[in-house]
Amino acid sequence: MAEIKVLSQSVADKIAAGEVAERPSAVVKELVENSIDAGADRITVEIKKGGIAYISVEDNGKGIPFDEVETAFVRHATSKLRDIDDLFEIQTMGFRGEALASICAVSDVEVITKAKGALEGAHLTVNHGVAKAKETVACNQGTVMVVENLFASVPARMKFLKKDSTEAGYVADVMGRIALSKPEIAFRYICDGKEQFSTSGDGSLKNAILNIYGIDHAKGVMEVNHTEHGVSVRGVVGKSELARGNRARQTLFVNGRYIKNHVVSKIVEEAYRNVLMTGKFPFFVLDICLSPNLVDVNVHPAKTEIKFANEKEVYDIVYHAVKNAIYRKPEIPVVQELKGADRIVADVPVNEKPTFAPKQDYTEKKQETVDRKIISGFMENTIPQKNSFSFKAPVKGENVEKTFGFALREKPESVEKDKAEKAFEYVAQAVEPEVKQPVEEKPEVNLFSETAGVEEKPLFEEESVAKVVGQIFDTYVIAQKDNRMFLIDQHAAHERKRFEILKKDYEERGVSGQLLLAPIVLDADNSEITVIRENREKLLNMGFEIEEFGRNSVIIRQTPYVSDEEDIKALAVEVMGILADGRPSGLLSFEERILDTISCKYAIKANKKLSLLEMEAVVRDVEELEKSGITTCPHGRPIKVEFAKRDIEKMFKRIV
Ligand code: ADP
Ligand code: MG
Repeated sequence: MAEIKVLSQSVADKIAAGEVAERPSAVVKELVENSIDAGADRITVEIKKGGIAYISVEDNGKGIPFDEVETAFVRHATSKLRDIDDLFEIQTMGFRGEALASICAVSDVEVITKAKGALEGAHLTVNHGVAKAKETVACNQGTVMVVENLFASVPARMKFLKKDSTEAGYVADVMGRIALSKPEIAFRYICDGKEQFSTSGDGSLKNAILNIYGIDHAKGVMEVNHTEHGVSVRGVVGKSELARGNRARQTLFVNGRYIKNHVVSKIVEEAYRNVLMTGKFPFFVLDICLSPNLVDVNVHPAKTEIKFANEKEVYDIVYHAVKNAIYRKPEIPVVQELKGADRIVADVPVNEKPTFAPKQDYTEKKQETVDRKIISGFMENTIPQKNSFSFKAPVKGENVEKTFGFALREKPESVEKDKAEKAFEYVAQAVEPEVKQPVEEKPEVNLFSETAGVEEKPLFEEESVAKVVGQIFDTYVIAQKDNRMFLIDQHAAHERKRFEILKKDYEERGVSGQLLLAPIVLDADNSEITVIRENREKLLNMGFEIEEFGRNSVIIRQTPYVSDEEDIKALAVEVMGILADGRPSGLLSFEERILDTISCKYAIKANKKLSLLEMEAVVRDVEELEKSGITTCPHGRPIKVEFAKRDIEKMFKRIV
């Protein structure tokens, strides 16, 4: 056995670094949290090559005093914690004094910083844990941290990093969440020379959502604002159309700090019971605020897991808060002109009573002025909720933006609004009546089978095909052949049939797409835009033409089948989700998952009454599939169950 030895400092540091600086996104998170702790209200983050080659975080915070710059890089050196009692009252994002020590052990770090009131700043370079001479420099108050060549000296860790674009996706995710947690800070995030998003720092969560996720999300959220027993739950939850197939767009903060907590996700999802389909996860950005000494943030080194002292109570309050937001009655604003002013006043009626949890206080009633154009745009599909949009009469010189949510911007020419209006133009185009495609005019039967209802049968031929008897529960087709009765799942059968056709096309000559008369613009985040870019050919082969469009959206020009805009958007979102996931699932390969998603959307649904022709088409589909030995839907569920006449007779005790 090898001799027991104390590890050298440099090896120990590199091991410790793995816990804090696990990948570029973790480094970005630590650096940005330091900037937040330094009181910055403007933070710019730039990365190159997924952050592995280059990360720069620039802030206008209080800076580091010249004499303390080296100390900041020493392990357990922190300005945020003095003794153990402080740990239970901690208000800053960091306190362990480990981040900079860990980061500089595994990369080349350069810091330029000037403390508040200092005449000159400091410039220090630390190459893989070794500090170079410090210089004085002229610079603005604040700090710039540049981290280069991450893990260049730790090949074992380098191996665990993913593709640059995947790592960039993680960084974008972290940046998005931090920007959502601090709407009062103006963030700018640049990746490979391209600005990905910038927030205005005006304090409005809805504005931040608009800047990060786009107009659909800004329009599709409902405000949560609920306080009970000293615990407040604030933020937004999404309407059902924002739900996705995974939890990537669920963001939880506790006292402003990003936290992963599956129980809270589950509780929120429980509040959505019967509102969302199974397998769909709601969008939310929620901040649970409670006394810091009721939270133990010290559970996990990266501090994304926590424990509540009174868990059950906190979860109950979250449940009520979300349920309140979801079930609040819709209210329509009454809009009237204000004489001589280029503004309108929207008087929002206030609900008599909450639909849920009577503890909440709904008595506030306010008025606020709203820019006319913005109200017609943003309010179109957004129903103002009490406590969410509070309107009050204009007070001269008042900063409307400050007191209001996302819909209020004093400068209509702002970038965000430009984008919003552009998106509306497209939405408007997309809902013009001519979007209706001629496909819908075709005889119904063509929707279901290429072979349906065409063949004439000779008069006295033996019964060779099953005869349709009818449909039950608007979902199952009953058919009969010889001495057997069949129950066919209409959706499963049609989905499988479409899937087989698509798969054959995909493998042979590519699925032929149908050009949309009005292209559809869809909000997309960075990781979605990346997968669209990287899978362009594959998508074309599947009948989709989707491209990047502006900073936060993609444009859909062609789809494998034509449907209404909402359906196509939902399909595109699902396809992007599978592309981002990039994995097979169950019986299906990665490509098959996409083809199946298309088939599923295209296929006739359960709970739909069918005509006789349509039912016959379903039965023919099943027979054809069976000829190729196929008896299940793409996921392996049966398409058809059979009952022998004999068994039925036995059930009725006609025979024994
Ligand atoms: P922690 O944040 O846990 O204190 P770090 O290693 O992240 O530990 O940072 C060490 C110290 O360096 C901080 O306590 C702070 O005093 C200083 N520091 C780091 N980044 C900044 C920054 N951007 N602005 C001002 N001070 C900073
Ligand atoms: Mg820190």
